[in-house]
Amino acid sequence: MGKPTLDERERKRIRPVEHYPMEKLKHVNKPTTKITDKIERIDEREQGFSRAHFGKLGALVQKEVGRFCQKYPISSAMWEMLPQLKSIADGKAVSNKAPIPQSPRLLSRHIKSFGYFLRADIVGICRLPEWAVYSRDMKGEAIELNHKFAVVIVIDQDYRTMSGSTGDDWISCSQSFLSYTTSAFIACTMAAYIRRLGYPARAHFEAGSQSAYQVVVTPLLLLAGIGEICRAGIVLNPFLGTRFKAAVVTTDLPLEPDSPVDFGLQEFCSVCKKCAVECPSRAIPTGDKVMHNGYEVWKFDAERCTKYRITNLNGSACGRCIKVCPWNKPRGWTHDMVRWMVKHTPFMNRLIVKMDDVWGYGRQDIRDKWWFDLEDIDGVLQIPGKS
Ligand code: SF4
Ligand code: SF4
Repeated sequence: MGKPTLDERERKRIRPVEHYPMEKLKHVNKPTTKITDKIERIDEREQGFSRAHFGKLGALVQKEVGRFCQKYPISSAMWEMLPQLKSIADGKAVSNKAPIPQSPRLLSRHIKSFGYFLRADIVGICRLPEWAVYSRDMKGEAIELNHKFAVVIVIDQDYRTMSGSTGDDWISCSQSFLSYTTSAFIACTMAAYIRRLGYPARAHFEAGSQSAYQVVVTPLLLLAGIGEICRAGIVLNPFLGTRFKAAVVTTDLPLEPDSPVDFGLQEFCSVCKKCAVECPSRAIPTGDKVMHNGYEVWKFDAERCTKYRITNLNGSACGRCIKVCPWNKPRGWTHDMVRWMVKHTPFMNRLIVKMDDVWGYGRQDIRDKWWFDLEDIDGVLQIPGKS
């Protein structure tokens, strides 16, 4: 036996780094959502919030999009912070590459460990397909991004807060922005670190009034094995449900991609429909999947959802579909057991959904409510009226 290489010696020192047992999920070659090769690149100006911004969803929505987040003091404080990070999303890599191991597996472990060190909840890696890059940005300028890999950084919106909330009350936008600000901080730090190692890297994140995304996040979450696409049109993770947001780092650092996962969600969402029934804007369909821009998905009505989130008079934004989803659970062995049943005994899915209702999941638990209901009207915080 020869002397172990630097890569081998390094690898022996490394233990699993994940906070959740992602490695125990069934990993598959293709995502459980059918994807054809006919996916058109998306113009960022066609996304729901961009359309609202440009007045394509009506005058009221255009007026409210400027304040739906700022009308609550926590989300407003977070909103203010994000545009400042935009200036450090990208930069030049140093010209001398650092003397680090070149094993993609080892570098992936390193980058994931770094993400967890920075307090990410889940970190995944995939190749960056060309079709996951926006064609044009908010100013209409063409986007050229040729990085090979995407690192997705997932941040939980906090189970306890979700438990104390109705899902579309005054804390809702702050929960989203908790994840946006934290993941943006991690993405900017990670991208800056990779550039200091001598490789190009760019952070992509929600930046409040200015977008810092050049990539579409949902397919990257899917390809990086964070979860499967659910009935609500977003990626659902088996340990967090849809209770998270994500930022992305794209880079040419040689990494080893993760693979998509299959934990039985397509069968489960087929019978569940709780999010569709509870959605205040009826944006989530109750019917079957359809082909849409190369994906076979339940066709989510982004316009209805965006309008409701922006003009919600009894709260700031909305995450009711996240709240009521049976996968929105704390950690514990009983929930691990249900996750196992969904995967191995799908004929029990209807009973699991029924029991979720019987046990009262999805209802507000007022004991967990820690925030004050307040609304900023013309710069003065007031107790919101009911509408
Ligand atoms: S965020 Fe609210 S409005 Fe949008 S789909 Fe979910 S429940 Fe419906
Ligand atoms: S509520 Fe039910 S149907 Fe909706 S995403 Fe969650 S599991 Fe799927």
